[in-house]
Amino acid sequence: MPHNTTNVTSISDNLTAVRQRIADSAAAVGRDPDDITLLAVSKTKPVSALVQAWQAGQRCFGENYLQEALEKIHQLRGKDIQWHFIGPLQSNKTRPAAENFDWVHTIDRIKVARRLNEQRPTTLPPLNICLQVNIDGEASKSGVSPEELPQLAAAVAPLENLQLRGLMAIPSPIPSPGGDCNQQQQPFARLAQLLDNLRRQYPDNPHLDTLSMGMSGDMDAAISAGATVVRIGTDVFGKRELAKESR
Ligand SMILES: *Cc1c(COP(=O)(O)O)cnc(C)c1O
Repeated sequence: MPHNTTNVTSISDNLTAVRQRIADSAAAVGRDPDDITLLAVSKTKPVSALVQAWQAGQRCFGENYLQEALEKIHQLRGKDIQWHFIGPLQSNKTRPAAENFDWVHTIDRIKVARRLNEQRPTTLPPLNICLQVNIDGEASKSGVSPEELPQLAAAVAPLENLQLRGLMAIPSPIPSPGGDCNQQQQPFARLAQLLDNLRRQYPDNPHLDTLSMGMSGDMDAAISAGATVVRIGTDVFGKRELAKESR
């Protein structure tokens, strides 16, 4: 169990435990754990917590709220950190995202992709992009439907300041009673199938290698189904205060 306090030892211990879980889940299905990137999701957490994770070797961080993220990026300038934006992105907020992030995981509209492409400084490498898929077809969720995906990919692929990397999804939470994660695997397996289709659509794109899926509660199922990026908040940094999340 992750600790709730944010002292140095617990974040470092939590990271060690999560890395071990990644290794175990990968081994269980014959995958190389080095093919799985741990994204530490630091939304609502103070800069000091990110520094502790960084000191424990963590280099990839995921943030959901743009303003909060920009403050952290500013304060941590000079540290070798890869910043991933994983929250909903409004089309009038794309410029700071294009200028400050290495990855955006949540593209579900061509308008947002076009703006990021226009606003990405050409002095930086292309912005890595995942297309977000509404894998459960929930009315309230962001993400394109599997049916709309090929069309969105076709619009994003030619944008030269973006690099289409793969797919992202947030399935609705399903419990894993007694560690049985068969149920949890189904939406992840569907996302993996969609990435396969996409790779067939773009056989010449060697960068289409990313399945961003799996959070603290369903990471193991996601890895069995082929996740290459797992986005872990609670199990690294402890529980979040809900009040802070609803802004
Ligand atoms: C908050 C969040 C996470 C991390 O969730 P935990 O359950 O705390 O691990 C992962 N992905 C996205 C998109 C999130 O918003």
